[in-house]
Amino acid sequence: MALLDNTVAVVTGGSSGIGRNICETFASEGASVVNADIREEPREGGVPTHEMVTEAYGVAATFVECDVSERADLEAVADAAEDLGGLDVWVNNAGIFRGEEFTEVTEAEYDQLMDINVKGTFFGAQVAIERMVEDGGGSLINLSSVAGLEGSGDFVTYCSSKGAVRLMTYSLADKYGPDGVRVNAIHPGVIETEMVTDDVPIIGGESEDAFRQQIPSRRFGKPEDIGNAALFLASDMSDYVNGESLVVDGGQTNT
Ligand code: NAP
Repeated sequence: MALLDNTVAVVTGGSSGIGRNICETFASEGASVVNADIREEPREGGVPTHEMVTEAYGVAATFVECDVSERADLEAVADAAEDLGGLDVWVNNAGIFRGEEFTEVTEAEYDQLMDINVKGTFFGAQVAIERMVEDGGGSLINLSSVAGLEGSGDFVTYCSSKGAVRLMTYSLADKYGPDGVRVNAIHPGVIETEMVTDDVPIIGGESEDAFRQQIPSRRFGKPEDIGNAALFLASDMSDYVNGESLVVDGGQTNT
């Protein structure tokens, strides 16, 4: 028996990077997968996620075009999960990251980041939890960041958003634990995706080596490091883990 047999999982932002690997890791353990993303093509190239996981693992998988800042889109995603058999796991993974000079951040930039990282997570949780409570429970996983644990002057808006996701996670665990819904957060360190090679080039930029030296494991993370953490939180192996922050950063934060 695989860890996620008879499980239907939604992953927002599952076309690329971390979300794509979460879809693949879940599928490799038998889950049916709904990828909810604004784009179908992976940022890093390759076959769309739902096609890739069906080919590789023979599971049911689908893509739903979804902007997580639109509640109606999120409802359509939950409907797609119902069509696959009923929602069990929802991963609020979609997010954006930007470096900034604090005094120059415009309202439009602030709204865009908060709409995706915070509002998208909030209403993703609302839509998911409504269905999970009706169905007797489930596992909700929110992608925060090490930037949701420690402040950084270069990323004030992003840190604000990821700190909000952390306390949203704890609050929802408090509210819905009695209904059988577990709510946990993953806090990745620097994980090698287009987000940190392209959007904010921490990897490939001039401070790459200095940054790596701050990490006790002396390497940047890979998407599968987060996919495996998500698998643990999605499966019954973490049945008594609730309202938790799982930090996956090679030791960066606590040293
Ligand atoms: P990524 O490679 O950029 O992938 C994110 C995916 O989400 C992309 O396909 C993106 O599409 C999609 N997306 C963006 N806005 C969306 C929206 N409004 N609705 C639906 N989908 C949307 O990023 P990643 O590195 O995998 O990051 C995934 C999550 O992990 C994020 O929440 C991020 O903050 C968090 N995280 C990442 C790192 C890291 O080092 N990579 C560290 C800590 C936390 P477009 O490309 O078209 O925008």
